[in-house]
Amino acid sequence: MENRVRVRFAPSPTGPLHIGGVRTALYNYLFAKQNNGDFLLRIEDTDQTRFVPGAEEYIIEAFKWLGLNFDEGVGIGGDYGPYKQSERKPMYKQYALDLVAKGKAYYAFDTAEELAQKRLEAESQKTTFQYDCKTRQSLRNSLSLPQDEVQRLLDNGEAYVIRFKFDEGQTIEFDDLIRGHIKMESSLLDDKVLYKSDGMPTYHLANIVDDHLMHISHVIRGEEWLPSCPLHVSLYRAFGWEDTMPKFAHLPLLLKPDGKGKLSKRDGDRLGFPVFPLQWQDPKSGEISSGYRESGYLPEAVVNMLALLGWNDGTEQEIFSLEELVNKFSIERISKHGAKFDLEKAKWFNHQYLQKVSNSDLAKVYLDELNTKNIATTIDKVEQVVGLIKERCSFSNELWAQSDYFFVAPTTYAEKALKKRWKEGMGAIMTTISEHLKAIEDNDWAQKAEDFLMQYIQSNELNMGQIMNCLRLAVVGDTKGPNMLDIMRVLGKDEILLRLDTAIKNINL
Ligand code: GLU
Repeated sequence: MENRVRVRFAPSPTGPLHIGGVRTALYNYLFAKQNNGDFLLRIEDTDQTRFVPGAEEYIIEAFKWLGLNFDEGVGIGGDYGPYKQSERKPMYKQYALDLVAKGKAYYAFDTAEELAQKRLEAESQKTTFQYDCKTRQSLRNSLSLPQDEVQRLLDNGEAYVIRFKFDEGQTIEFDDLIRGHIKMESSLLDDKVLYKSDGMPTYHLANIVDDHLMHISHVIRGEEWLPSCPLHVSLYRAFGWEDTMPKFAHLPLLLKPDGKGKLSKRDGDRLGFPVFPLQWQDPKSGEISSGYRESGYLPEAVVNMLALLGWNDGTEQEIFSLEELVNKFSIERISKHGAKFDLEKAKWFNHQYLQKVSNSDLAKVYLDELNTKNIATTIDKVEQVVGLIKERCSFSNELWAQSDYFFVAPTTYAEKALKKRWKEGMGAIMTTISEHLKAIEDNDWAQKAEDFLMQYIQSNELNMGQIMNCLRLAVVGDTKGPNMLDIMRVLGKDEILLRLDTAIKNINL
């Protein structure tokens, strides 16, 4: 186990997983795989008041969809389980008591009301109350009360918490792989609760004990945990575990698109993009938040996009497969600054990855959609259509808007283009063209039809753009779409002639 890279993603099941959390997990994954190490999933559910049903299942499903597989943890197993902190509950107390015995922590008996009172008093003096080396002597704890009184309270079963004791006047120093050397004065820190009166450890205690017992080598997590890190480092030292203390790397924040503040849960649906990997329905309010999966993003695109929100390989390269990311990722190249979320860039990534999906795979997805629209067609035709239009799409759900005319003949024609192109006399020209096209033999009809059109337009000194656009208007109903030869190939002689005749009848001026 010594020197083996072991990292963990340790979400609390308090709701859906924010994409900032997904990025944290991704960086952990890349670092683990690059170093032939282990990537663990630990569920930190010690705060029972914040537990949300379904959140744990959501987290597991999200990583399955993203293709980021854990080596150990909840839902997988491993040698250091259980990996859910609520199932580890009985073992934390001994660690808290160990710190009390070492003089590094103490019992505190103050009630919620007493502490609320202290806060009010501080507020009235325009200060904030903190349970720390300056105030603890005036509060009810095992450092301020006589020992027999403490014993009596414990024997009576009085509710207590165990708090960490920061010694006064010390400088806590440690290195962060992204932030560099960090210094913090112990006197400024509050004596955080390690063990709660409900018999549960707090995040801080459980997190350190578990990282230690699970042989975690590197803690890679969001910047919001940096202020807690002096406590965490102090806990390792107090336990006597400094030799095997993990290395820390605190990731910069994911920012709103305008760079003003952290990307929040609410931003997504307010600004029109998902901030969660999968759609989530709040079990209490029923409120639905959109997900990348349901919005048509490909998991590879989401992974690639997130990897680059805060990291780059020092070149202009933006498209990286997961394997390439594993090879190229480095903590040294993680930015110190927050990364702005960019919706256009997210769409661009999806566009790039959609182009990589094979026509036959995309055709299967599209055929399902066409079936729901009761459109009778063949997988061959759908595959051809997909091949012609996928470059115009960033999402598979845009296929229909770009190619409906391949499956349904137009009944209306773009008015502006019609006015511009279908001038007087066009009906007669189109009728002649239609007659000629009809006479062309079926074998390789589209190519022969195009050759004929080129030659006919030239020899009659007609306007190429005008004629081809009118033909397109008749067949497509609009001036959009890939080149006419391709359209003629896919639709075939009979359908093209039918549409041409319908247009002549309907449009004729
Ligand atoms: N449970 C913490 C969270 O929800 C984990 C933080 C850490 O990685 O230490 O983010």
